[in-house]
Amino acid sequence: MTPDFSIKNLDTLRNTDELLAIGNETITPNYAPQPVIFTHGKGTTLWDHDGKAYLDCIAGIAVSALGHAHPELTQALQDQVAKLLHTSNLYFNENQILLQEMLSKCCFADRFFFANSGAEANEAAIKLARRYQKSVAGRSTKVNIVAAHQSFHGRTMGAIAATGQPKYWEGFEPLPPAFQHVPFNDVDALASVVDDDTCAVLLEPLQGESGVRPAAPGYFQAVREICDRTGAILILDEVQCGVGRLGTLWAYEQLGIEPDIATWAKGIAGGVPMGIMAVREKHAHGFQKASHATTFGGNPLACRAALVVLQTLQQPGFLNNVQIQGEALRQGLRRLQESQPAIVDVRGAGLLVGAELKAGLALPVVGAARERGLLVNMAGPNTIRFAPPLIVNEDDIECAIQRFAAALAACDRP
Ligand SMILES: *Cc1c(COP(=O)(O)O)cnc(C)c1O
Repeated sequence: MTPDFSIKNLDTLRNTDELLAIGNETITPNYAPQPVIFTHGKGTTLWDHDGKAYLDCIAGIAVSALGHAHPELTQALQDQVAKLLHTSNLYFNENQILLQEMLSKCCFADRFFFANSGAEANEAAIKLARRYQKSVAGRSTKVNIVAAHQSFHGRTMGAIAATGQPKYWEGFEPLPPAFQHVPFNDVDALASVVDDDTCAVLLEPLQGESGVRPAAPGYFQAVREICDRTGAILILDEVQCGVGRLGTLWAYEQLGIEPDIATWAKGIAGGVPMGIMAVREKHAHGFQKASHATTFGGNPLACRAALVVLQTLQQPGFLNNVQIQGEALRQGLRRLQESQPAIVDVRGAGLLVGAELKAGLALPVVGAARERGLLVNMAGPNTIRFAPPLIVNEDDIECAIQRFAAALAACDRP
């Protein structure tokens, strides 16, 4: 008899343990999912297969910017699914044009390439920078890409070559050549490697994956000057920290400079896969007809979602709430730190917040928090990352701190 693969059967006829067993036997071993299966969500709450509720303070790694089942996003997507899903980049679609127009009015850039993930947006940025230096600037030796230690730029071959953490590329060599790395927040180190052969400098405004590490004051002004002096293209990877996450629409607004190229993904379409590479007119001409493309990029569904997200983020008070709740979260964690020496440091900006813990605690705390109905994750070996939906309120923040405190107390027994 053919097995019944209907969702109803998955939901009702098998329990969580049975589903987890099947999942763990059939997923490629590069993932180690936590023992929970989510079935639905609303706002900042997620429910699992057993009906237990969780406060979501990770938002699918800074993706679900408007929370779960946001009414306007849901309505827009339902409407779009019934109208048109895909036509390819052989043609324009209306949503894509509207999104390009909206973006051109609310950020530094003039032109936009739509992709499906952060890594793909970074690949596009790297390829564009290389091709610009060769074909527009006429500098065939200007090929080196300088990035930072502890950076994260995604999992494609180009993106791991750019990523300054060996654990992401070991075993996958040979990597694409001509990527160099320098310590983050170190102006002298950058100045000493950027020269006439530097194609681009690729940096995160705030390093997310390696432990929520903000830029030092003045660092990016110096980076901008070094790039201007040498003709290197400044690429900012805002995949995690852009799109309202830091309390401004784009992360570069906090740095006092503008990039030549920026990449956005994660939260940009509220959970629908999308990446964007944004570029000024001048550098955009590194691409010519057919020099780069993707089948799915800019499809009507993703663009419709991004339009709703960007409209919502630009409503009066929305980004202010991100700043207020982010500050409340950091303050609450710092207050907890006074009585909890297991917290080594509290960092971040907006609603991307890191609590660095004593070595060995972060992993058990993630599990203990989940058991207490709080979802957070690890960024780097010792840091707990909070990246809740941008719609959190003060009650959510208070609840998050209470549950985190309980989880920490349970794990920090001598
Ligand atoms: C998540 C992330 C990426 C990769 O995005 P994917 O959508 O997983 O390809 C790239 N850069 C930064 C800074 C990220 O946080």
